Amino acid sequence: MTRSIGFTDIDLDRDGKQVGFVNFPSSVHDDAWGVIRVPLTVIRNGSGPTVILQGGNHGDEYEGPIVLGEIIRDLDPATVNGRLVIVPAINLPAVEASRRVSPLDDLNFNRTFPGDPLGSTTQQISHYVSSVLYPLADAFVDLHSGGSSLSIIPSAVLEPCDDPQLDARNRAAVEAFQAPFKVQISNFGDPRTSTSTAVRAGLVTVGTEMAGTGTVTPDAVRICRRGVHNVLRHLGVLEGAQEKGPDAAGFHTIGGTSSYVMASEAGIFEPFHELGATVREGEPAGRIHFLENPGREPVELRFGASGVVYGKRHPGRVRPGNCCLVVASPLED
Ligand SMILES: [Zn+2]
Repeated sequence: MTRSIGFTDIDLDRDGKQVGFVNFPSSVHDDAWGVIRVPLTVIRNGSGPTVILQGGNHGDEYEGPIVLGEIIRDLDPATVNGRLVIVPAINLPAVEASRRVSPLDDLNFNRTFPGDPLGSTTQQISHYVSSVLYPLADAFVDLHSGGSSLSIIPSAVLEPCDDPQLDARNRAAVEAFQAPFKVQISNFGDPRTSTSTAVRAGLVTVGTEMAGTGTVTPDAVRICRRGVHNVLRHLGVLEGAQEKGPDAAGFHTIGGTSSYVMASEAGIFEPFHELGATVREGEPAGRIHFLENPGREPVELRFGASGVVYGKRHPGRVRPGNCCLVVASPLED
């Protein structure tokens, strides 16, 4: 098997705090022998679990990278039991561009797992995560927000898992995050995400969605900060009691295609509800207006599932197939 060509000066087995980079060779027109420098920090103190904290999976989701930067700067290694591997801007080219996908290869990092050691830069980074970092770790936290195209209820996210024992540990870790909402998301069953790959690697896995719309939401930063520290206390890497959040409803799920309200026409989408509204299958979700042809009646879209409005498209203009709304339904055990 071809090994990753990513390289780092950081000694992953050394005690203390090391703030540096993992470098991916990038030979381009103006830099024949250059590298892409992806920030990597390791904080280790004695024995204990290894937890990977990842942000910047998508480059336009900021709460996670902000909180991980705080941890990198502020955390005293003496307070750690075990090892934190922190990659706050894992898809660095996308983070620098504030884009969901990398400007280098137009790939969505979170659809490239397990990656390719000799593929494009995004594929090389995901291969490094899955082949170098995952085998070191006991747990994985992947911090997302809604990004430029979605506004989402701040939530801790459960990855579907076939192994009942690991599923129970994942649920406990997601609960420990103490987010206002907790939801299982299957991404249409796509196996190429970092969290689905982490679950298959046997890691206790927690995801998040924190607000979105390509900006920073103060409340979501606070929820994310509390959640990451709570999960680290839950896993035994940090000492101290967990900080309780608001009482959240039970687990919800975005399980099937009926959870998504997709645009059927090009135009301007008018939603009928705000996030958090309770809705029922079959009821009107919103309508698409044709501003260039005001005599044409708007086209109505309906919900395909009952539950809570969990996500809402941010830009008003839609093309056919755009995701306008997402409904989270109560998760049946
Ligand atoms: Zn994301």
